[in-house]
This record gives sequence, structure tokens and C-alpha cells, in this order.
Amino acid sequence: MKTHYCPHPQDESEEQAVCGTWLGETSNLSGEWSLVDCQRCVRGKKKISASVAAEEDAIVQQMGDMANFMREQLWGVSQEAGHD
Ligand SMILES: [Zn+2]
Repeated sequence: MKTHYCPHPQDESEEQAVCGTWLGETSNLSGEWSLVDCQRCVRGKKKISASVAAEEDAIVQQMGDMANFMREQLWGVSQEAGHD
């Protein structure tokens, strides 16, 4: 039984480990590198960490865009109300 790295181990919908291994019932996932014993995951740690960081950056970026959009929507609404 191998433990693969997963940034979201609580997400049980994951079917494939970050190293590309298809997950079976005997596979474990962990967000802690110290618990990961899959050599493919460990060897790709640098790359995986980078892609996880990039993914998180993208999410942060996306949330920022959404916040800007919401703000624009709110301003639009308040400006319209102000014209009346
Ligand atoms: Zn793995």
C-alpha cells in the first residue's frame, strides 16, 4: 500500500494521484509529504509543489476577479440608484 501526495486528501472524488497513478482502494492520500511513501510522488515533489502553488495562485486570482466583478456590480447598482 502506497501513500501518494494529494493537496486535498479529503476530496474522495480524486481518481488519479498527482504522480499519475490511478488510485485504487489500497491507495492512501496525504497532504503531508512526510507521510508520502510513493517514490513517483516523492521524485516529482518539486514539480508537484510548483503546480499546486500555481493552482492556488489561479484560485486566488479567480477569487480576486470575482471580488472585483462583485464590487463593479455593487457600484453599478449604487450609481444607478444615485441617478434617480
Ligand atoms: Zn504517487
